[in-house]
Amino acid sequence: MKKIAYICMGWLVILTGCSKEDGPETKVYNFSHWQEGQVIKDAQGYTEVVIGDYPLVLSVPHGGDIAPEHILDRECEGAETVKDTYTVELARAIQDEYRIVYGKTPSVVISHISRMKIDQNRELEGALCDNVELTDTWHFYHNYLDSLLQYSSQKFDKTVFIDLHAHGHAVQRLELGVSLTISELGYVFTGHENLAHIGNLREKSSYRNLLRMNSSYTLRELLLGDHAFGTSMADKGFPSVPSKQDPHPMTGQSYFTGGYNTTFATSTDYPKVYGFQIEANGNSKNTANRRAQFAKSLAESVEIMLHEF
Ligand SMILES: [Zn+2]
Repeated sequence: MKKIAYICMGWLVILTGCSKEDGPETKVYNFSHWQEGQVIKDAQGYTEVVIGDYPLVLSVPHGGDIAPEHILDRECEGAETVKDTYTVELARAIQDEYRIVYGKTPSVVISHISRMKIDQNRELEGALCDNVELTDTWHFYHNYLDSLLQYSSQKFDKTVFIDLHAHGHAVQRLELGVSLTISELGYVFTGHENLAHIGNLREKSSYRNLLRMNSSYTLRELLLGDHAFGTSMADKGFPSVPSKQDPHPMTGQSYFTGGYNTTFATSTDYPKVYGFQIEANGNSKNTANRRAQFAKSLAESVEIMLHEF
């Protein structure tokens, strides 16, 4: 209900065409004025949105540099403030790859404001800490993410969502967060996806909507099979976990399971959307050459997923 309330307020009425007349229970979107390739920014330039024409929605919450002095640094309990280096540059490489090779535009939301000031992969309170003046900035990012997911779902049978991050862990591999813990990925590896004592991992994972669309799929084949995103990226020189080559992290290893945006975008509110968080290692993205290779591999791997699943 909270989401519906703010979607129908203020500037967003103009941008998404949300109509209050239809009642608070109904979200109505009129995207007739949206143009594919259109770039939209908030007034301060903190957030950038690109309207796409391809069933991929990319979110980049932690790569920003803008750090206004008049806004406090976040210091509340649990606040992470480290920048995800080269993730905006990696998103640019991905946009270039789609434009040049496929003649397509993925939908994109990028935060250009520093994570010191706002964390766009957290719920509102934890995102802001005490910086209530950035409330609109948080809503701009997440309302547009919502709108892009709705828009893509109107146009395509399936949409892939990727939340793009960077990690500094010792093991050089992409960590694909699918909302499952290390031990849960271990169960998937051994073919257990829905048992009383472990719960329904099919429904817990960020692939739930794809599994609901086609119940004959197994989580194991989607995450560890020949056509899985991680398997494909590893084949192309970007070791990934989970994948056929590296099914799950070992107990005690550092691993990000996926955060707020992944949970949000792959919820049953968007029944045609599935996806994951990518935590990219340094080797995969710290030079322009590697970013170009990453972008090529990502686009090919997403194509395989969309085609095979
Ligand atoms: Zn991050």
